[in-house]
Amino acid sequence: MSKVLIIGAGGVGNVVVRKCAREKDVFSEIMLASRTLAKCDAIAATTPEQKIQTTRVDADNVSELAQLIEKFKPELVINVALPYQDLPIMDACLATGVHYMDTANYEPKDEAKFEYSWQWAYHQRFKDKGIMALLGCGFDPGVTQAYTAYAAKHHFDEMHYLDIVDCNAGDHGQHFATNFNPEINIREITQPGKYWENGAWREIPAMSIHKPIAYPNIGERESYVLFHEELESLVKNFPTLKRARFWMTFGQQYITHLNVLQNVGMTSIKPIKFQGVDIVPLEFLKALLPEPSSLGENYSGETSIGCQIKGIKDGKERTYYIYNNCKHQEAYADVQAQAVSYTTGVPAMLGAKMMLTGKWMKAGVWNVEQLDPDPFLAEIGKYGLPWQEIINPTLPHEYA
Ligand code: NDP
Repeated sequence: MSKVLIIGAGGVGNVVVRKCAREKDVFSEIMLASRTLAKCDAIAATTPEQKIQTTRVDADNVSELAQLIEKFKPELVINVALPYQDLPIMDACLATGVHYMDTANYEPKDEAKFEYSWQWAYHQRFKDKGIMALLGCGFDPGVTQAYTAYAAKHHFDEMHYLDIVDCNAGDHGQHFATNFNPEINIREITQPGKYWENGAWREIPAMSIHKPIAYPNIGERESYVLFHEELESLVKNFPTLKRARFWMTFGQQYITHLNVLQNVGMTSIKPIKFQGVDIVPLEFLKALLPEPSSLGENYSGETSIGCQIKGIKDGKERTYYIYNNCKHQEAYADVQAQAVSYTTGVPAMLGAKMMLTGKWMKAGVWNVEQLDPDPFLAEIGKYGLPWQEIINPTLPHEYA
């Protein structure tokens, strides 16, 4: 029985709140705080299971956050605002001695760059204070790391090759929209790609490596190598990996729109003067695009995200594929969200439950693969994200 403070009332926040509200034995009191109170109230109005308290907070402001935490006294803060807010919320948790978790790693607002160094630097201070920070407990990052840890624990003596494959074969009926916060999404995709090979990062021009990959129940989709944050912690925690890559599908329509927007400067994060006012083109573009939380109702199709691994078991070569497929319409029927918000919010709720029930509780700053995957994967199916595994499939990759 714990009090939790959830910060961020967007697409993911909606899922986390609704899922937590149904687990009253664990989350006995819930407060939802975000920049726009009306969005918190709209979500709170959808949970007959328990009353959600709401308030406004500026999560960039550490003292405002600390005051809110002191007043509400939660055991855990679930951060599903934006990556820019990770450090202020971690600072407020440290100041007040409260556990922390999030679904995306810190990114400075004025530089499109994300990495764990800033958050890992809090490890000793969290440990000394006796509190835990769980980093990146959505789907990817999040479940993909639990999948990899599960493979290492049960199926391999040594893992050598990891390919995380992420397909959204859904159709939301819009010309162009992003499935999570447009600003964060476009910053991620327009950066140079990067993957791990033989002990070093290989940087490649954005979207320059691609090929069709066949996804279960979906078929072949063109998939592109991107840098994704969980690669950074996975190669550190599984040092036998010779290569680790992340692949994501994009439709031609999405890429055409993105190219045009990039070519005309609309994805830039450098402020420009417009009629005497400083505006950031990408922030302006975000204001024009549909909110991720609004895409659910007419979304058809499904996502498929998983890990394809090659390595050694009992002296023999082994391949392994573990994945989840999630239908947009089923996610909508459960919590009025599309599958990308859903596949992020469900693991966030379950990660919080793992912490609060003691299964994952330890002081310090941790990534998902550093925790026991078994209790997490034993429960995730019942919350809507069942997984499948295939031992010794033919995988669509070349190996040295
Ligand atoms: P949204 O843009 O829909 O929601 C973000 C919410 O945070 C909004 O309610 C916004 O308020 C609020 N917010 C932003 N800044 C502040 C602030 N300074 N103070 C208080 N509240 C603030 O994004 P999503 O729900 O799609 O994404 C949420 C997080 O989940 C992101 O960090 C994203 O990167 C991550 N994510 C992780 C995935 C994974 O698999 N691990 C996949 C998808 C997303 P307002 O409504 O007023 O703008």
